[in-house]
Amino acid sequence: MHFFIDRLLPVKIPICTFDARTGILCSKCQSKLSSGQISDADIHVSRALVKLAEKASDINRTTLLRSFQVDGNFVLEVEQADAALFRSKPEIKTSLEEMLKGKVWIMGMSNSDRRFLEDLFYPIRILTVNTVWLPDGSKLTKAIIPGRRVERLLGEIEALKSIVKSVRGIELMIEFEREATLRL
Ligand SMILES: [Zn+2]
Repeated sequence: MHFFIDRLLPVKIPICTFDARTGILCSKCQSKLSSGQISDADIHVSRALVKLAEKASDINRTTLLRSFQVDGNFVLEVEQADAALFRSKPEIKTSLEEMLKGKVWIMGMSNSDRRFLEDLFYPIRILTVNTVWLPDGSKLTKAIIPGRRVERLLGEIEALKSIVKSVRGIELMIEFEREATLRL
C-alpha cells in the first residue's frame, strides 16, 4: 500500500506520504513529532503538497525539507533546485496559500543568511547586507533594498522580520535606498 502510493506521488516530505493523505500519523511519524524532529507546520504543509501534487505533477519531483509556521504564514524549505521550480510556477504558491490560509514563502535550503534573505525578499533584490552592533552588544542585520520597491513591500515588513527572527534567529532591520541617491 505504501509502496503503491509512494510510486504515484513521489514528492518527498518529512512524514509518510500515506500519513499525509489520510491525515493520521503512523507511530513512527508520531514519535518524530513528539520528539520535535518534525513540527505541526511540517504536517500541514506536507498534507497540502501531497494534495496539490495530484493536480500539479511538477511537485512530484520536489523535496520538502522543513516547514515553519510564523504568525499564520508559512516558510517552506526545499532543495535549491526545487526553489527555482516553485519560482517558475507562481500558481503553485498561490494554491498553497489558499490551502494553508496564510502567505507562503518557498526557500532554497542554505547555510548562508544572505542567501536566506535573498530568497525571502525575492523578486526584490537586496543591495547590501550589513551587521550593525548595538551599544549593548547585541546585533542587528541590516538589509538595504531599492527604494522604488517600497510600496510593494510595506505591508509585508513585519511578517518578514518575524520570519527572519523565528527561522534564523536574526533581528532584521530593513532600510530603503533613497530615490534621491540614485543617478537619474
Ligand atoms: Zn508515517
